[in-house]
Amino acid sequence: MNLKRRSTDSIQLRAEAQTRFSHSTSSALTSTDEAALRHELLVYQIELEMQNDELQKAHTKMEEARDRYVDLYEFAPVGYLTISRQGLISEINLTGSTLLGIERKKLVKRRFAQFIAPEDRERWHRMFLGIMAEEEAEIQSFEFVMVRFNGSSFYALIDCQRKDAIGEQPTLRVTLADIHKLKESEAELRIAAVAFEAQEGMMVTDAHNTILRVNEAFIKITGYAPEEVIGKNPQILGSGLQDSAFYTAMWEQLGQQGIWSGEIWNKRKNGEIYPESLSITTVKNRHGDITNYVASFADITLSKSAANEIQHLAFNDPLTNLPNRRFLMDRLEHELASSTRTGHKGALLFLDLDNFKVLNDTMGHNIGDLLLKLVAERLITCVRDCDTVARLGGDEFVILLEGLGEHLLEAASQADAVASKILMTLSQPYLLEGHEHNSSASIGVTLIDENKLHIEELLKQADIAMYQAKQSGRSSIRFFDQQMQENISARVKLEEELRRALINKDLVLHYQFQTHLGQVTGAEALVRWQHPQQGIVYPVEFIALAEETGLILPLGAWVLEAACAQLKAWKLSNLTRDLLLSINVSARQFFQPDFVAQVACTLQRYDVNPNLIKFELTEGVLIKSIEETIATMTTLKAMGIKFSLDDFGTGYSSLQYLKRLPLDQLKIDKSFVHDITIDHRDRAVVRTIIGMAESLGLEVIAEGVETEGQKLCLLNIGCSNFQGYLFGKPMQISEFETMLKS
Ligand code: C2E
Ligand code: MG
Ligand code: MG
Repeated sequence: MNLKRRSTDSIQLRAEAQTRFSHSTSSALTSTDEAALRHELLVYQIELEMQNDELQKAHTKMEEARDRYVDLYEFAPVGYLTISRQGLISEINLTGSTLLGIERKKLVKRRFAQFIAPEDRERWHRMFLGIMAEEEAEIQSFEFVMVRFNGSSFYALIDCQRKDAIGEQPTLRVTLADIHKLKESEAELRIAAVAFEAQEGMMVTDAHNTILRVNEAFIKITGYAPEEVIGKNPQILGSGLQDSAFYTAMWEQLGQQGIWSGEIWNKRKNGEIYPESLSITTVKNRHGDITNYVASFADITLSKSAANEIQHLAFNDPLTNLPNRRFLMDRLEHELASSTRTGHKGALLFLDLDNFKVLNDTMGHNIGDLLLKLVAERLITCVRDCDTVARLGGDEFVILLEGLGEHLLEAASQADAVASKILMTLSQPYLLEGHEHNSSASIGVTLIDENKLHIEELLKQADIAMYQAKQSGRSSIRFFDQQMQENISARVKLEEELRRALINKDLVLHYQFQTHLGQVTGAEALVRWQHPQQGIVYPVEFIALAEETGLILPLGAWVLEAACAQLKAWKLSNLTRDLLLSINVSARQFFQPDFVAQVACTLQRYDVNPNLIKFELTEGVLIKSIEETIATMTTLKAMGIKFSLDDFGTGYSSLQYLKRLPLDQLKIDKSFVHDITIDHRDRAVVRTIIGMAESLGLEVIAEGVETEGQKLCLLNIGCSNFQGYLFGKPMQISEFETMLKS
């Protein structure tokens, strides 16, 4: 405006100057006039030029502004269109044409509706007519699916406004925006929202593990309302069944891998503990910092019990409900590993019913099945909880015994005992739908130890042994290993005979001198078995068996009794009145709850002076239960009985516990005495034992002294109590007394 006025001003000025000039030329001008005029003209000229310059600048600015406008218009983030009353595109910016995927010049005069997806076209028309009919209508927004020239489509947001210009038909101004991305993330949000409200319980916490959000399923599973947990730590759900190590490992994995999944026990609001399968995922920001944890979990109480059911079906025999072959294989594998680890043996018993087929064929399968069920029930009663009774199929059963003794023979006899019990139990009559039925079985046994590494092989061995059992007549037991079979048979026989020997009193005590500096101070009572066929049987043959079978208890009682009877008899002679009698007491005997009472009673019955009795215990006994040992020993000692630690040096005695035992004597084992004259190490051991005994205030005696040399050597080191063949073998009482007299 200002600019305009100034330019009109200058035109006027110039005109005035010219008029004045023509006036001056028409009349005679004075030279001063002329000079003034020229000066004025010059001024005007300069002024004009300045004005021209300004105009130029203004023009450039206007052009720049226009360019800027054009840029803004053409490259705006949205498309701008003008649509005529007829619905034709009359104007469109570059963005618009790019959105529609076609050159601008080809767009002009095209029908806009052509770019609206067919399904939305009707809506467009209605809206177009509506807006065009109404003057001064507000801007209206619509979403349409638009179709590009190449046929591809996109979501568009369209803002429309009618424009009126005087004397012209109204047009429609349209802005067009591609909202495809927006729509996509909207869809994702919708999915996320639906997913969040899915079957699984969901919980979102912040980086500090404070609960921010939970879903419906969470509420349903845990029983907590959102307001009861939001803002709290998820520990509120803890059952306490997982230890802190569990959580430490979980957080460690979450930190490292960003995800954790597993099964966990949690607690509902009502206190009920339930299993859930849980996965936790970390959410991180652009910088990699954890911002949230998202936990999703499912209550698997039902699926767990279903899984248990499936497990049961997969691992159990449906008829008897016993474990099936698969389960057995699993246990066997486990047992092999544990036998290798612990050294404890196991045994596999293969059992087959005798004549089952006959029963099945004559009485029918139902009766057969019934018998199998009853057999299964009885089998279970014959084993411990840690053992496994499985049915392989038909009338074949397998019994797996675990954690038997560490020695093969011991394990074999334990397995044999179980097998015998099974045969006995199964041989009791059965009642099958009113009919009494008698059945028997054959059992094959193989032992499991670390040397047998294949379970299939074990089963085969037991099967072969079972077959041999059948061959040898029904209702019998066979071991796979021939040697084992012989050993076990011999043992079984021995056990029976020993039992009989105890009843028939086929036992006898032999006596061996114990001396001090050439004087007999006493004797050790050593038991012998007078076998009707084999003659004298020595303790090495039967003491271990007696211990395992428990026969040591009646045997030990008999020895004590016989020894007391002898002491009573010795009272009658000056020669024997003061003799001390050593009696061997085994572990099982010593730990009987009524051992002390038994001893007291026997001593009283024979009116024996307890001071004349010495009990020989072995280290193995004492170490079993040191407190109990001390208590029992102390009581007996108070009665006057003495104690000697037998076979000393072969066990694990530590000074520590020796010190605590109320002992009187250490008995140096004969194995150290045997080579004492030639082996300096044995000599060193004996010297140490003697030193130890001295420091503990105990007496020492050496057993197994056979030669003068051994005796001298022992005397030199400081031992003066002896027992051994040099002074006399263990002998019958008559012989012992005769020797004593001489
Ligand atoms: P032990 O108590 O160490 O008995 C010593 C064993 O060494 C006896 O064997 C004896 O005959 C033998 N012996 C004695 N002097 C000599 C010798 O100079 N040289 C050699 N080489 N051996 C000698 P035995 O009588 O066969 O007894 C063996 C083991 O049986 C005993 O060892 C003892 O542990 C056990 N035993 C014997 N009688 C009984 C008993 O009545 N009750 C219990 N629980 N165990 C007994
Ligand atoms: Mg002894
Ligand atoms: Mg001994």
